[in-house]
Parts: sequence; structure tokens; C-alpha cells
Amino acid sequence: MNLAAPQQILNYIGGEFCDPESGKFIDNVNPATAQVYSQTPDSTSEDIDLAVASAQKAFPEWSTASPEFRFKVLNKIAELIEANLEALALAESNDNGKPLWLSKKVDIPRAAENFRFFATGLIHFASESHAMQGKAINYTLRQPIGVVGCISPWNLPLYLFTWKIAPALAAGNCVIAKPSEVTPMTGYLLSLIADAAGMPAGVLNIVHGTGAGCGSSIVSHPDIKAISFTGSTRAGKDIAAIAAPMFKKLSLELGGKNPNIIFADCNWEKMMRTTLQSSFANQGQICLCGSRILIEESIYEQFKKEFVERASKLTIGDPLEETSRQGAVVSKAHFDKVMACIEQAKKEGGTILLGGEAVHPAGRCAEGYFIQPTIIEGLDANSRTNMEEIFGPVVSLQSFRTEEEALVLANASDYGLSATIWTEQVSRAHHMAAKVHSGIIWVNCWLLRDLRTPFGGFRNSGVGREGGWEALRFFTEPKNICIEI
Ligand code: NAD
Repeated sequence: MNLAAPQQILNYIGGEFCDPESGKFIDNVNPATAQVYSQTPDSTSEDIDLAVASAQKAFPEWSTASPEFRFKVLNKIAELIEANLEALALAESNDNGKPLWLSKKVDIPRAAENFRFFATGLIHFASESHAMQGKAINYTLRQPIGVVGCISPWNLPLYLFTWKIAPALAAGNCVIAKPSEVTPMTGYLLSLIADAAGMPAGVLNIVHGTGAGCGSSIVSHPDIKAISFTGSTRAGKDIAAIAAPMFKKLSLELGGKNPNIIFADCNWEKMMRTTLQSSFANQGQICLCGSRILIEESIYEQFKKEFVERASKLTIGDPLEETSRQGAVVSKAHFDKVMACIEQAKKEGGTILLGGEAVHPAGRCAEGYFIQPTIIEGLDANSRTNMEEIFGPVVSLQSFRTEEEALVLANASDYGLSATIWTEQVSRAHHMAAKVHSGIIWVNCWLLRDLRTPFGGFRNSGVGREGGWEALRFFTEPKNICIEI
């Protein structure tokens, strides 16, 4: 296979690679160089109509195909992703600005793992049966929904795109999928891979375009019966407003403002090392990054000194260089947003302990969108800096004296995606974990993922859970059958 990134991305509809009906394309920019390097289809409702028609045509055969057949196609995709790891990782880094070593180590292997996980999962997926004490037996069929929509963001492009597509297909649905228009390249390369893996025409349709033009057409299409969305809370609200009155199934994985709670009795070295990662990995553009660091008062000064020192040593530079720990943020618009948040923090009275400035690496990345890792202190829990998602290499520090104070700070945000707790006291860890309002809690670790576990958030972080059986249940309709004996 030749998986070199093309200059023009195409839609994948009904097994064909095609231009958008409008004939219009959007510039695709490499954020590390600020140069336009390819064009993405600017698809509209016309393209979505074509994709839905193809998906409906393909549905009867795909939904009734044997699990073994579906397994073979999905597992082949996993194999082809692995075989093309280098090309996919390069495309991801050029599109997103993340270090190439990170794409190779995390993003692309995880995309393959997503397909393999749900390929094998579909073979083992079973439903329940309930016997009624000699009167009747119930059994539950879990049937594919039909045509479903999968919409994903730019921060972990192929990783999150496949995390939705794989279970949707495994469950027997036909899919209309849209990657972010900011990072469309690996979504396009996935369509080449799916085609080469023997995906029947119309089962997977990958359509490119903006949220307003293409994404909203997926959400409002009457024949798309479920929407799995990962992205901002703002877009999640708009999507829910359209989809809920149409009674579509909805899975919304939205923003976060995650607390990282550090007690004095933690394993210091492990906590410092991991906190550096959970703050700045992928330039802080992971929904699970801990952006509010809450530190027990007795170790606050020691933590601050060492954390600033370690963060100041993170090398910022060309994502293609092995030595770069920090790459570019994803776009000019996002760069401007993050820089505005830093200005906001200063206006609110925050002290910038480290960073706060743009970086212009030498050479080809001089015009790219790079921001120093930034550490802020001195702001209260209700400041905008501590309440609103920044989604960049920016963290704030706050101190607490007691477990109760830590809980008040941790739960002050309207979000509830994830939290990290650092303590060597088992009972404290259990107690805190039960009381923090987040869907995912890590104790003495971060981003340790078992794909079988439920993944998702409380409150403004979303509705529903992904992962394991949760995902296969979301992408099926349960039907109970009761037979009197
Ligand atoms: P975004 O909401 O702007 O866009 C996400 C996707 O939705 C894109 O494909 C976009 O084109 C599309 N879209 C936008 N508006 C739409 C609409 N009205 N209708 C249909 N589609 C629409 O988000 P983003 O800036 O790409 O991603 C960053 C956000 O994603 C952050 O808030 C981050 O926390 C969140 N995120 C959440 C998770 C999670 O699992 N909870 C994971 C990663 C990222």
C-alpha cells in the first residue's frame, strides 16, 4: 500500500473515493510550519445524503454477516494499521503538530488496538437471559441500530476516530464518520486501509468537512439513528439540541477541567514524573490532562519549585525531531485561544511561574504554533482560569489543607471527566475516589487504560460511556423477548 499523504483528500462513500458534491475544499495546515500542505473536502448535506443511501443499501448484508466475517475485516484493518505505522504516524504529526515519537508510540498503535479489541469483542458479545421461576423465560436480543454517525476531534485524531468506528461496525451497523476538519489526514488514510481490508462498499463511509457544514448534517439526518460524538462541550450542547427531539441515541464525550490531587504522603518521584506528563503530554491537548493541580499545603512550595524546574527542561521543537518533548498546538485559532487564556489568567491576578509565551524554533518551524509549558498560581477555584477548559500546555496550582478542602476544590468545576489522586494511604484513596465527581479516577497513575472499562464523564463532560461492552451496548438496540413456559 502507498499511504503517503496526498495533496487532495477525498471522501469515501459507497466504496468509492470522490470529491465533495460542492467541489469545494478547505486548506489543511501543518501547525508546526504554518504551511498549507493539502486540501480537505468541504462536504455538505448532499454528501451525507449519498453516504446514508450507500449505508442503507449495505446494512442488510453487513448486519446479518457472520461475526467471523466481521471479525476478519476489522482485524485486517488492525493489521494494516500496524503494517503502515510509520506512514500513519508521520501523517498524524504533520496534521496535528504532535511529536512523531508520540504518534508512533501511542496514537497509531492504539488505533490498531481499537480495531483488534472490538473485532475480538464482537465474537464474545452475548446478551442476557432472565428466567421467571417456572413461569417464563426472557432473552434479550441486541440488534444493530442501522446507520450511525461518528464525529471526532483533532487532539487524538486516529485514536479517537477508530475508538468510535470500530465498535459501531463490530456491532453490525453501517457508519457515516467524520474526522475533525483540522486533522483529516489519518481519517482519509484509514479509508484507504478499510478499502484494502475488504470492507464491503457502503459499510464505512468517511466524509470530510466542517462541524457546521458536514457534522451538523450527520446529526440532523433523519435516517442516522445514533450519534457518537467526542469534542467540545459547546458542540455537544448543539448536537444534543438537534438529536434529542429526534430521539436518537447519543453518546457525548466532552470537555474536562480535571483535578490532579496530590497529598504529602505520595510517592514523590513517581508523582512528579507522572504529573509532568499529565500536565503537558500532547501539549496539554488531551481531554484527560490534569489542568488543575491541587497540592497539600505542607508540600506546596517544594512541589512548585521542583515542578517548575522540571517543566522548564521540556524541549519544545520540531515534532519530527526525536528530542522534542513538546510539539506545536494544533492550529492558529487554537494558539490564539490558549494565549488569550494566559492573558485572562494574568488579568485575574494569576502569577505566571513558568512560560506564558510563544516559541519560535529555529529552521522550518519558525512560523509554527508553539507555546511554552505554562504554570500559573494565585487564582481561586472560581476564577475563569480554574473553571474553563483551556486545552493547552497550561496548568494552575492551588493548595489545600485537608481532604475536605481538596474535595471542595476538586468538585468546584462544572466538568467531571477524570481525576488523579496521589497518596500512599489506601483508605484515603478509596474515600477520595468515591467522592470526587468524575467518571474516571486514577490513583497513583495516569492514563493507564484497560479498554474494557467504562470511559466517559459526569456533568458538562458528557453523557454515556464508551469502552468494552458499554460501547457495543450503545451501538445496539436491546429487544426483550418473553416466552411463557
Ligand atoms: P469541536 O467540538 O470543535 O469539534 C469536534 C468535532 O465535532 C469536529 O469533527 C467538528 O467538525 C465537529 N463539530 C463541531 N461542531 C459541530 C456541530 N454543531 N455538529 C456536528 N459536528 C460538529 O472540538 P475540538 O476542538 O475538535 O476538540 C477539542 C475538544 O474535544 C475539547 O473540549 C476536549 O476536551 C474534547 N475532547 C473530549 C474527549 C473525551 O473523551 N471526553 C476526548 C478528546 C477531546
